Amino acid sequence: MAAPRVGVVGYGTIGRRVAEAVSLQSDMHLEGVVKTRPDYAAIQAAMRGIDIYVPGGGEAERFEANGIRVRGTIGDLLERVDVVVDATPAGVGSKYKGLYSRYGVRQVYQGGEPPEVAKVSFSSLCNYGEAVGADSVRVVSCNTTGLLRLICTLDRALGVRRVWAFIVRRAADPGEYKKGPINSIVLDPPKTPSHHARDAKTVLRDVDVETAAVVVPTTLMHVHYVRLKLSREASLGEVMEALSEAPRIVLLPGRAGIKSTAQLVEAARFSRPRADIPELIVFEESISVRGDEVSLIQAVHQESIVVPENIDAIRAVTGLEASAERSIALTDETLRIGRKHFFL
Ligand code: NAD
Repeated sequence: MAAPRVGVVGYGTIGRRVAEAVSLQSDMHLEGVVKTRPDYAAIQAAMRGIDIYVPGGGEAERFEANGIRVRGTIGDLLERVDVVVDATPAGVGSKYKGLYSRYGVRQVYQGGEPPEVAKVSFSSLCNYGEAVGADSVRVVSCNTTGLLRLICTLDRALGVRRVWAFIVRRAADPGEYKKGPINSIVLDPPKTPSHHARDAKTVLRDVDVETAAVVVPTTLMHVHYVRLKLSREASLGEVMEALSEAPRIVLLPGRAGIKSTAQLVEAARFSRPRADIPELIVFEESISVRGDEVSLIQAVHQESIVVPENIDAIRAVTGLEASAERSIALTDETLRIGRKHFFL
């Protein structure tokens, strides 16, 4: 099968990372990206040799005035690709859906879009098979991806019946200087469940999930306190074994001396070029098992956790790879994801 040609629409926090991740795969080709403004991200893309397209005809002049060559409009890019990854702000992808469909391209959306935008809501460790050959999938949000990696791993090993999660959300991404709050803990929303429970159920229909969330003034990762009721009694050893054998989950040992997201990101700064942490980080010493109940604390790097899932989603929708295990292993090897590539 010829390497599918991929276009990325929306070149922000997620789009830039997905575009780079696509270009690191040998079985797919990054055809180009759609950018709205000729800002520093556009200049850096051009310097990397990435072909740049614009949403309409009007923006091209401003790009050219900034020394950035424009290859064409979004329509020109869609004519050249087999699959589009939409990484535009929440709601824009749904507006583009008609356009994508008219060009007959497969579509990968992000978690900010409503579930109805795609045939399948997607999480690699849970339901890769459902996405194989689908014309559209939606990679669930960063928090939901973190929760689902945990739930599906423990469900496969021990069975999971109920989940309660308290989510402490970062307020903004590091580059978003206008967002808040800057001095408040905001209930998100001031009732339960938060939208994360609904989002998780778009993938895992049979597990009862309840979530509550608050937003805090930080840009460095989300933190979850999670309690799970298993189908049977289990030992701490069984839970640790299931988590340590799963891909994309890192059990962080107490000896690392890390008790904050600040230290986690600082450690990543010295082990990875951009300090991304696409793995789900589970604090080993926080894991407690009592009979059939497990509780633990985990951290989610919002900027990067969904990037490997986007690569798997491209392989699934294009039919490039039918096996979840093979796609996950290939993605993780090429993106250097996993325990052996982290700083431990
Ligand atoms: P972002 O604001 O960082 O980037 C979006 C990009 O799309 C910007 O460069 C913007 O200029 C561009 N854009 C806006 N309108 C456009 C249009 N009409 N056509 C083409 N490009 C357009 O957003 P993000 O944080 O990367 O989020 C993208 C999606 O990923 C959202 O659905 C979001 O919910 C989801 N997501 C975000 C995070 C996160 O923490 N940042 C994590 C997981 C999922």
